[in-house]
Amino acid sequence: MDGPARAVHIPLMTTPLPAIFVGHGSPMMAIQPDETSAFLRRLGKELPRPRAILCISAHWETAEPMAGAAVTPRTIRDFHNFPEALYQIEYPAPGAPELAAFAAELTGGATDHKRGLDHGVWSPLRLMYPDASIPVAPLSIQPGRNVAHHLEIGRRLAPLRDVGVLILASGGLTHNLRMFQKYDEDSPPADYVVEFETWATGVIEEGDADALARAADHPHYTRNHPTPDHLLPLPVAMGAGGGPGRVIHNAHGRGILSMRAFAFD
Ligand code: ZN
Repeated sequence: MDGPARAVHIPLMTTPLPAIFVGHGSPMMAIQPDETSAFLRRLGKELPRPRAILCISAHWETAEPMAGAAVTPRTIRDFHNFPEALYQIEYPAPGAPELAAFAAELTGGATDHKRGLDHGVWSPLRLMYPDASIPVAPLSIQPGRNVAHHLEIGRRLAPLRDVGVLILASGGLTHNLRMFQKYDEDSPPADYVVEFETWATGVIEEGDADALARAADHPHYTRNHPTPDHLLPLPVAMGAGGGPGRVIHNAHGRGILSMRAFAFD
């Protein structure tokens, strides 16, 4: 006779992974630990371990959505005049071609089988997941399209959160490098940085995607984002989250960079 039925424990992911937005700051974070690098290390340990990561990078600009489908993506050192040590960095995470194909399908985009991992991708990931064992697919932004477009991209990607994919958006809440020389490392954040940061945080905490879509109307938008590339990953995370976000990290760099990070649960 059979004994009583035994419970079968199949690990099911019952809650979706949050979508995350982080500021990746300067590539120097790789060799100069700071409060943001400490946060990213902690974040990787605190999040449930993802099956794969879809990383939206401010440093991959295309006209239409593109997902990197390389099987072994190379490490791209896309910066100039930095210390030699930064050009030795490798982040040998496996690619995630199936995830890339799925992301391309969801967004109506395409795949790129040659694209590697730029520093918008590996700067946070090598701190969050130093062993580089989680498969990664990068996703591009469209600097020629507006915030509403990127919110919609995020909404289309939302189902990935239910199957163990971490949607990690990597940019910067404020990012005017043209003002870099005006400040030094210890400068407090400029008023126009704090005002934009405070406004964006209010909008995010209220889950007001329509207000975020009008970010370009903010009086200090252009001063913080002379080009939109570092802001555009944020609406992808918010769209994927589908509701309010919460602040998970606060820091500033050189008076002009807000390193504030958000989770959309
Ligand atoms: Zn950047």
